[in-house]
Amino acid sequence: MSNITVFAAKKFITMDPNTPEVTHVAVRDGRILALGGKECANEWGSVHHDDRLADTIVMPGLVEGHAHMMAGAVWKYAYVGYHDRIDPSGNLWRGLKDGSAVVAGLAEFADRLDFDEPIVGWGFDPIFLASERLSRIHLDEISSDRPIAIIFSNFHLMCVNSYALEMVGYDQHSNVEGVIKAPDGLPTGELQEMAAMFPIMRRLGIDFRGLSQSPDAILAYAQVAQRAGVTTITDLFSSMEDDDVDVMLRITNDNFPLRIVPVLGAMGDPVSFADKAERLAKRSTDKLRMGAVKLMTDGSIQGWTARVRWPGYLGGQPNGIWNTEPEMIYSLCAEMQARGIQMHIHVNGDQAAEVSLDAIQAALALNPGQGHRHVLQHCQMMDRDLYERAAELGCCVNIFSNHIWYFGDQHVALTLGEGRAARMDAARSALDAGLHIALHSDAPVTPLGPFFTAWCAVNRRTMSDRVLGSAQCLSVSEALYAITMGAAYTLKLDAEIGSISVGKRADFAILGDDPTSIDPMALKDVPVLGTVSGGRVHLL
Ligand SMILES: [Zn+2]
Repeated sequence: MSNITVFAAKKFITMDPNTPEVTHVAVRDGRILALGGKECANEWGSVHHDDRLADTIVMPGLVEGHAHMMAGAVWKYAYVGYHDRIDPSGNLWRGLKDGSAVVAGLAEFADRLDFDEPIVGWGFDPIFLASERLSRIHLDEISSDRPIAIIFSNFHLMCVNSYALEMVGYDQHSNVEGVIKAPDGLPTGELQEMAAMFPIMRRLGIDFRGLSQSPDAILAYAQVAQRAGVTTITDLFSSMEDDDVDVMLRITNDNFPLRIVPVLGAMGDPVSFADKAERLAKRSTDKLRMGAVKLMTDGSIQGWTARVRWPGYLGGQPNGIWNTEPEMIYSLCAEMQARGIQMHIHVNGDQAAEVSLDAIQAALALNPGQGHRHVLQHCQMMDRDLYERAAELGCCVNIFSNHIWYFGDQHVALTLGEGRAARMDAARSALDAGLHIALHSDAPVTPLGPFFTAWCAVNRRTMSDRVLGSAQCLSVSEALYAITMGAAYTLKLDAEIGSISVGKRADFAILGDDPTSIDPMALKDVPVLGTVSGGRVHLL
């Protein structure tokens, strides 16, 4: 049989302005050889025609620039979130709408566990619940002689029972930042950010690494991605021990439907993280791209742990928590820039964005150099001035558009107020500043689904169906560009993926509808029928 396959479709939307739409694409050795009509590859030799996509619309494989591998394996814990959610196998989990439903759901889950296993829930979000704040008292009702932990949907906070607090010795005398105490001086069970949470996670064996690096976890992630039309995805805070990399290299073979970009979480000694990133870069393959690092600066806005500029939070909540102190952010930026290592920097609050830009500017003053493409991630409160600075410094941005729908109403009422909420996730300002932008889900914080994410950036609807900040809406074509070429750019993969162009990888999303011709309000519902990865068809 010929080694050239010509795929036919109702329409290939190429995202390449030179040939925006074609009906046929020829593939050889996993790469795009030619495109146009049925005869497009005839001059290259004998061809084989594949009509499996003939009734579909095809786009470049979607690119998710900020997600976490545990989006697959986190389902081994009890889902106790507010929103309905689909698991990797396609099962629907109903959202839990009040505190007692959460406690009941967790108790039911506990009955199915062995007695020595900790009871762990995830996806919880008290900002949607009218009832009093969840505390150890509620969790003690489920059990007082085994540990219980509920991880919040943002993965920046958790609540644990009294037994778990005792296991790590958190009591009225603890002065660890983020261990929240009641007026009586005793811990409430709520733990905010990494310094407070890590001891519990260690003792309970809640291990983001373990949720990310087993073969099952990687395969579950691929399943989640495939359902969403994604062919290239990140794992944007990975510990990547040597054993983990061996496992990932073994799983991500030619048949694997996904390219993974794991990004090394760097919280600590800059030199050793830079050394490790360089070592990892050398082990990269087509399907596994390593070498970048992730910095975690502040927390989450809906958890009131993001660092925000004046006037701070509504209701006078304290101004957030640094997961990495500004001084260390400066050191990390200086080292990575000096070594030519790309950084992805988590910035939710505008103060975190400002400090990170200051640190990048200082690093560039020491080691000027172009093409670093450091990426600010989330960028939720970045205003025009911060985007202009990011552009001046040669950075790009990946914006958390899903937040508008999931938390927009809460940001108006409870965290930032109308004025700042209306300019959250300001994709229009970012484009106007001349930046390359991507849009993301941060799965499993919100569900993976680039069409939903694009829909959020286009329509800016909240859960109560109001339009939040219409001045920041994108057009459909701008949003589709952001979830393909824009995201590829932030990963320095734009020469290889992101559009259907000769020479690029034959990575496609197979669709049941044409996102460029439907009502923009229907964008989130475009059916994904499967993907093509390196020329191999993976139908759902
Ligand atoms: Zn994240």
